[in-house]
Amino acid sequence: MWISNGGVADLAIIFAQTDKSKGHKGLAAFLVDTKTPGFSTQDIHGKMGLRASNTAQLFLDEVRVPHENLLGSVGEGFKIAMSALDNGRYSVAAGCVGICQACIDACVRYAKERHQFGKPIGSFQLVQDLIARMVVDTEAARFLVWRAGYLKNKGIRSTRETSIAKYFATEAAVRIANDAIQIHGGYGYSNEFPVERYFRDARVGTLYEGTSQIQKLIIGYHTLGIRAFD
Ligand SMILES: Cc1cc2nc3c(=O)[nH]c(=O)nc-3n(C[C@H](O)[C@H](O)[C@H](O)COP(=O)(O)OP(=O)(O)OC[C@H]3O[C@@H](n4cnc5c(N)ncnc54)[C@H](O)[C@@H]3O)c2cc1C
Repeated sequence: MWISNGGVADLAIIFAQTDKSKGHKGLAAFLVDTKTPGFSTQDIHGKMGLRASNTAQLFLDEVRVPHENLLGSVGEGFKIAMSALDNGRYSVAAGCVGICQACIDACVRYAKERHQFGKPIGSFQLVQDLIARMVVDTEAARFLVWRAGYLKNKGIRSTRETSIAKYFATEAAVRIANDAIQIHGGYGYSNEFPVERYFRDARVGTLYEGTSQIQKLIIGYHTLGIRAFD
């Protein structure tokens, strides 16, 4: 369920449980050709956002995978999934910084152009309050992403820093896109301006690649040394 590009991909990485009694230590990762007999997909329609991106449900029915398609060894699936998540979370966070900046750009343009009570709405203090909050959140998100990226480039494990960046940037993007709609007034609610799409596209950020709640549990674990889940 919910696999990005699942309906168009030639290859899929499939994680399978080889021994339930071993929990996450029983997981194995396989590279699977999506043309393999028994492999099928169904596109998911009706998403709130990310409408240019394919999302699909995958079905595997007696799919046979050659041994050479095993990634790593049996039992290493969880480790492989976690390292893939560090990369996925990083790109979601970076994408959200882009949405935040696009919202600021759209709002600055609109706040100068739209006049009410004989003045540009950007001259109202409460509109400046919204814009100032957007700028601070965006810069904080950008620096958190840069920090995680710096560690990644150095080859240093950055699960904690990536979760912090992902949590902050995705939540910031939702707040900022929501405020961007507010600044655009009624027009913000229509597709005449891009901010409604920014909101719809931002909204998934706090869900995929691990929800915000899961990021907080990861940050909690790295802070307390106590796992909230197995
Ligand atoms: C557009 C889109 C594309 C996606 N692409 C992919 C993809 O390519 N590959 C892929 O593997 N997945 C993909 N996903 C799936 C996505 O990662 C999951 O939807 C997401 O991780 C949440 O899992 P869930 O939907 O099962 O929610 P659930 O796990 O059912 O969570 C529901 C709620 O319960 C909370 N919750 C669950 N467990 C806990 C806990 N232990 N403690 C506290 N709160 C908890 C969650 O935070 C959430 O608020 C995609 C999803 C979407 C919407």
